[in-house]
Amino acid sequence: MPATPEQWIAALSQTYWTPGSGRRIDPLTRTRTATRTEAPANVNVKGLDKATEGKNVIARAARLATEDSPLGRMEAVAIRDAFVMEAEELAEQTETVRTRACPACGCFTLLPVKGKAHCANRHCAPRPGLRRRWTYRDLGYTRPAKPRGVKRSDGYPADLRPLKFLAEFFAQSGRAVSVDTLARWVKLHNLPRWPVDGKTYAYSLSDVATVHAAQLAAREGQLCGDQARPVCTGLADLFYNTDEQAGAMDNALMKRRVAVAKELCAECPFIAPCREAALKPNGKEQHGVAGGLTRNERRDLKTERGADQ
Ligand SMILES: [Zn+2]
Repeated sequence: MPATPEQWIAALSQTYWTPGSGRRIDPLTRTRTATRTEAPANVNVKGLDKATEGKNVIARAARLATEDSPLGRMEAVAIRDAFVMEAEELAEQTETVRTRACPACGCFTLLPVKGKAHCANRHCAPRPGLRRRWTYRDLGYTRPAKPRGVKRSDGYPADLRPLKFLAEFFAQSGRAVSVDTLARWVKLHNLPRWPVDGKTYAYSLSDVATVHAAQLAAREGQLCGDQARPVCTGLADLFYNTDEQAGAMDNALMKRRVAVAKELCAECPFIAPCREAALKPNGKEQHGVAGGLTRNERRDLKTERGADQ
């Protein structure tokens, strides 16, 4: 499969001859079989135009790269990536677009439609029924967003899918998660579900997409440098609703949620400042888990500290 602009130009420029028939066929839809009644296949003009365009893109990227400025390098990468995504769309492939996170919501649900990447997450839509759209250039210039948080649908959402489908869908983004893990996450976040038959349930793709993005962000929360972030990014739901919703959730699940939140805290690079802030004597009373401690544990520690002084 072509991966670089150079490989794409080669793929788009060559024409194939079907053995025996002496007939030219479209280089990117090799599966077509010629029949006696079929009109002679022509060269794919769209593909050839794209190949010519690709040569200009490469020349421009090379010029930008020699400028030796961070902005120039960024633009060089962006225009090359955009060319690859456009060429892929021409060949009805989605590989590169699928690996990008949405610059607005951080979900891995981008799909190419008519020269733009559409975010399939309904929770990200600017208006109901409208998908958020990005040009392929946008994707090169913008940083993927931090996931905003876990969302839940009400009513009967239009994007219901079984977990098996969703696991395969997210695997296309290069961030595969097993069906079992997805099942654990959707339970942990109390996502609404709709029965399909006696045994299996369907979940809203948009709901699961926000959980997928937020849980991955938590796992990758310890990235160093500029990208460092607390592991609770996007998981406010898990961290702050642990004592409030006790009535609405069964006890075992609540305990499990607290345990998971504490586990994540333990690995967080920000645990020390976070705990200090949470334990300030006059600090605002917070709900849920903060700095690896539950509300009750923090309250006890505060009283202890108060008694020492
Ligand atoms: Zn989005």
